[in-house]
Amino acid sequence: MIPGSCHLAPGRWEPAIHAGLERMVREHGRSGGQWDPHHRPLATFDWDNTAILGDIGEAVLDYLDERDQTQRSLEYERQCEEFGKPVGYPWAAYQIAGLREHEARALTLQVIDTWMARGKITFRPEIRDLIAVMQHQGWEVWVVSASAEPLVRTFGQFYGIGPDHTIGMRLKMDDSGRYLPALSGPNTYRQGKVQAIDEIIGRRPVFAAGDTDTDIDMLRSARYALLMDRGSAEVRQAAEAGGWWVQPPGW
Ligand SMILES: [Mg+2]
Repeated sequence: MIPGSCHLAPGRWEPAIHAGLERMVREHGRSGGQWDPHHRPLATFDWDNTAILGDIGEAVLDYLDERDQTQRSLEYERQCEEFGKPVGYPWAAYQIAGLREHEARALTLQVIDTWMARGKITFRPEIRDLIAVMQHQGWEVWVVSASAEPLVRTFGQFYGIGPDHTIGMRLKMDDSGRYLPALSGPNTYRQGKVQAIDEIIGRRPVFAAGDTDTDIDMLRSARYALLMDRGSAEVRQAAEAGGWWVQPPGW
């Protein structure tokens, strides 16, 4: 990438979205003339089914089920149906309780390897490219996810996102450094994502990307928003009302 460049690879982007993103990145970035190193433009990306195809939180449950002959995935679905996602999502994150940080990292890398080999998780090169171009243009890029934070921290490194720029379900730790089945930060579901952005980053995003109803509040909080459409009527309505970019399903 040449200095000051902000060309996105065309990839599978809708041409109008590709052009809009390039313009936005340039106008708010180093090339734009108003760029301030002390107040860099903020971009927040949902992770599962936005930055990647697939869901690392659910993949870990499936992996543990296979390895340990458990039924965590079924129980997760039951929790979501019976008590709702605000209960089911933290429950899924609690399944790494008992692990130390490096053990959670090792587990995540193992799951990524195995699930990518099976085609159940794939990178989205266009999103990785967008993040790289944003960073090159002086944007500050964060991941804001409802999966357990240690999982997303590990995965985010494949996209050049540092662990200190990742927000997920943050778990408490005991004195010996093992994760506990309890949150130490906001429940990053819907408005909880915005709450986490306010508390941890301290300013609202210029750009946000997401794929589902749980991202609506974060997308509304941003000046520009990208929906990786997965067919939800509720989210499409929000996108129409908000004038978001809507990348059609299929990748
Ligand atoms: Mg998602």
